[in-house]
Amino acid sequence: MRTMVWFRGKDLRVADHGPLVEAAQAGDVIPVFCLDPFFFDPDRARELPHRMQFLLESLASLRANLARLGSRLVVVAGRSTERIPELALRWRVDRVAAHRWVEPFGRERDRRIGAQLEGEGIRFDLHEGETLAPPGSIRTQGGTMFGVFTPFARAFRRDAEVLDPLPAPKSLPPLPADLSWEDATIPTLDSLGLGRNPGLQLGGEKAARQRLKAFLAGPIFAYGENRNRMDRDGVSRLSADLKFGTLSIRTLWRAAADCFGGGGDEDVAAYLNELLWREFTHHLLWDRPELLDRPYRAAWEGFPWADDDLGFAAWAEGRTGYPVVDAAARQLLAEGFVHNRARMIAASFLTKDLGLSYRRGEAHYLRWLTDGDWAQNNAGWQWTAGCGCDASPWFRIFNPVAQGRRFDPDGAYVRRWVPELAGLDARWIHAPWEAPDPVRRGLDYPAPIVDHAAARAAFLTLAKAYLGGVGAS
Ligand SMILES: Cc1cc2nc3c(=O)[nH]c(=O)nc-3n(C[C@H](O)[C@H](O)[C@H](O)COP(=O)(O)OP(=O)(O)OC[C@H]3O[C@@H](n4cnc5c(N)ncnc54)[C@H](O)[C@@H]3O)c2cc1C
Repeated sequence: MRTMVWFRGKDLRVADHGPLVEAAQAGDVIPVFCLDPFFFDPDRARELPHRMQFLLESLASLRANLARLGSRLVVVAGRSTERIPELALRWRVDRVAAHRWVEPFGRERDRRIGAQLEGEGIRFDLHEGETLAPPGSIRTQGGTMFGVFTPFARAFRRDAEVLDPLPAPKSLPPLPADLSWEDATIPTLDSLGLGRNPGLQLGGEKAARQRLKAFLAGPIFAYGENRNRMDRDGVSRLSADLKFGTLSIRTLWRAAADCFGGGGDEDVAAYLNELLWREFTHHLLWDRPELLDRPYRAAWEGFPWADDDLGFAAWAEGRTGYPVVDAAARQLLAEGFVHNRARMIAASFLTKDLGLSYRRGEAHYLRWLTDGDWAQNNAGWQWTAGCGCDASPWFRIFNPVAQGRRFDPDGAYVRRWVPELAGLDARWIHAPWEAPDPVRRGLDYPAPIVDHAAARAAFLTLAKAYLGGVGAS
C-alpha cells in the first residue's frame, strides 16, 4: 500500500501522528506539505506574521525529523485542492491520509479533495487528532451540541475515550524511487516580505517538548492559584504548540493526567479543565460553522457597535491610558502572546468601554497571536463580548483597574510591558491618574481615553435597550 501523508500545518510532528504511523505500517510513505497560496501568498502571509514565523520553524523541524527517520518531506506549491489530487494520481498512491480540521473552510477543502480522489478510486482517510474526542461526538441526551461548558465537560469525562498517544515511528521507508515532482523550497520569512520577531517562541517539536517538560516540572502543581496571575509564569505557554500540532493534544492530556498524585491534584484537574475549554470551542465550531461570521446568540445580530478608528488604534497600539489594557496590547505585538486574564480584560475594554465590535478585536488577535486559532479566538471574543456560547453575561464588564490590582498586585506585568510606568509606586501603577500631581506630570503616558465608569454605564444602557433586558438571548 502506498500512502501520501499530507501534513497540513496543524500536525507538524512525528510523535502521535496517526496518518504517519499507519502509513509506515502499511508500506510506502510519501510525506507531503503543500505551500497553498491561501496562506503562503505574500499578501496573505503578511496577515499572519507571527504564525508564519512559528510555522516555518516548525516545518523545518518536521523536515529534519522525517529525514532522521529515513524519509523526506516533499514540499510542493499550489492550491491544495488541485495539487493533492494531481500528485496522488501521478504517484499512483492508494490513499491520502491527513488529520481532520474543524474549520468550515478546511472542511470544504476536504470535501472537494475527497470527491476528486474518490473519482479516481483513491481513498482519503481523515484521522482524528486535533481534538481529544472526535468533534460532534459529545452530545446531550437529545443529540445536540451542549450550549454550556460544564455539562459538556461532565459528558466528556463520562463518555470520551482519550486514546493513548502513539510513539513516533522508529524509522520510515525512503521515498519510492519512481516519484517526480516540481520541488518547492520552504520559503524564508524574507521571501514573504516578513521580518523575524526574536520575541516569539521557537517553533518545532523539540522546543514544544522542552516547554512541556518545564511546565510539568513545577508550574502545573500551582496552576489553580497562578493561572490568573499576569505577573507570574504560571501557565504552560503551550497554545501555539497545540495550534500547530508540534505537541499533540493527546500527549499533553496524558502527560498532565499522569501528574495526579504528584502533590497538587486540584491544580492538575484545573489544567485539564482548561484543555476541555479548548475541546469545547472546537466541538462548537464543528457544530456551528457559521460562528466565524455571526454571533452565537441571535439577539446580537446587528448590534449597534461604535465606529471609532482612533479608539481602535489606541487600543491596538497600547495607548488607552489603562495600564493593564496597554500592557496586553504591547505584549501581543512583542511576543505574539497575551496572558489569558489580560486577553479577557483587553477584550472587555474594546467591546464594552469602547463599544467596538468583537470582530475587530478578533481579527486583530488572529493577525498577531502566534496561537491564533479560529475556534478558540472566536469563542474567546464572543465569550467576552457576551454574545457567545456559555458567555460571560453582557452586563459583566471588567474593571481594568480592579482586575490589575487583583491579578498583578505589584504591577510587575504592567512594568514589563509599559516601561513608561516602570518607576511608578504600586499604589498608582494601575491608575496613574490617581498619582499626586508632581508624579503624574513626570510620566510620559496618556490620560485614559475614556472614563471607565461613564463608558460602562453607556454600554449597559445601549445593550439593555438593544437586547431587551437582563439575560436576553
Ligand atoms: C479574547 C480571547 C482570545 C483568545 N484567543 C485564543 C487563540 O486564538 N488561541 C488559543 O489557543 N487560545 C485563545 N484564547 C484562550 C486562552 O487565552 C489561551 O489559550 C491561553 O492564554 C494560552 O496560554 P497557555 O497555553 O499558557 O494556557 P494555559 O493556561 O496553560 O492552558 C492550557 C491550554 O488550555 C487551552 N485553554 C486555556 N484557556 C482557554 C480558554 N479560555 N479557551 C479555550 N482554550 C483554552 C489552550 O489550548 C491552552 O494552551 C483566547 C481567549 C480570549 C479571552
